[in-house]
Amino acid sequence: MNIMDKFCLKGRKAIVTGGAQGIGFNYASAVAAAGADVAIADINGEKARETAEQIAGEYHVKAMGIQADVTSPEQVERMCREMAEEMGRIDIAFCNAGISINVPAEEMTYEQWRKVIDINLTGVFLTATAAGRYMIRQGGGSIINTASMSGHIVNIPQPQVAYNASKAGVIMLTKSLAVEWADKNVRVNSISPGYIMTDLIRGHELIPRWTELSPSSRMGNPEELQGVALYLASDASSFTTGSDFVVDGAYTCV
Ligand code: NAD
Repeated sequence: MNIMDKFCLKGRKAIVTGGAQGIGFNYASAVAAAGADVAIADINGEKARETAEQIAGEYHVKAMGIQADVTSPEQVERMCREMAEEMGRIDIAFCNAGISINVPAEEMTYEQWRKVIDINLTGVFLTATAAGRYMIRQGGGSIINTASMSGHIVNIPQPQVAYNASKAGVIMLTKSLAVEWADKNVRVNSISPGYIMTDLIRGHELIPRWTELSPSSRMGNPEELQGVALYLASDASSFTTGSDFVVDGAYTCV
């Protein structure tokens, strides 16, 4: 098969959590551009539906919006069920929803810690295993988790102990699922972005400092994650599982 054909996703069905905006929206757009039908899942159901309409209009694929909070096992199960009922199967799952709370560790409350871990790590576990059950039954699939360069290094100067711990957890969760499911044809990989200009960081007072610390002297754009997302979603990455892809403009090299 021609290598370019391996990137074609016509007939595939993809779901993206935290897909209403930012990085998740760009993952969804990437796979839709390659022909996949997409489900945009987000805690903000209205925005998820608007984003789905936008993608359907732009890429002429089927798209649906689903309201779901990734910290709720029941809502995550319902999310996958709604998608599978509408689209017939789940081939690709981006477990992407995430937040950050930056507080000095000694001041961080239990509730703040739990919120970050529940969304960023438990949310990925719940989504990956719910989608994974469909993929195992179907005979295969590709799961792509959003980790972060913060799973590899401690970003400075902002204090973000829970975020860093959650993202390191996502990287190891990814490897563990990849090993458990390798013989089931379910591939599991993660993407670790550096600083990417989305609402998560837009307008942050530390952007000049982060720019200065980066060898690339700039933030990344969310579109710059689309290539790796498409690669991991597609058959072009058929022997790639259990890997983490750092896309950070060389930030973690120094
Ligand atoms: P964003 O804030 O623009 O988008 C996050 C989306 O997740 C929003 O649509 C939000 O409504 C949704 N969401 C939040 N909590 C949710 C929940 N409980 N259930 C379902 N959806 C929920 O942020 P982004 O920059 O696009 O971040 C996406 C992912 O990328 C996150 O996991 C983040 O940690 C990671 N990341 C971002 C950067 C960056 O610099 N922007 C860097 C590394 C990793």
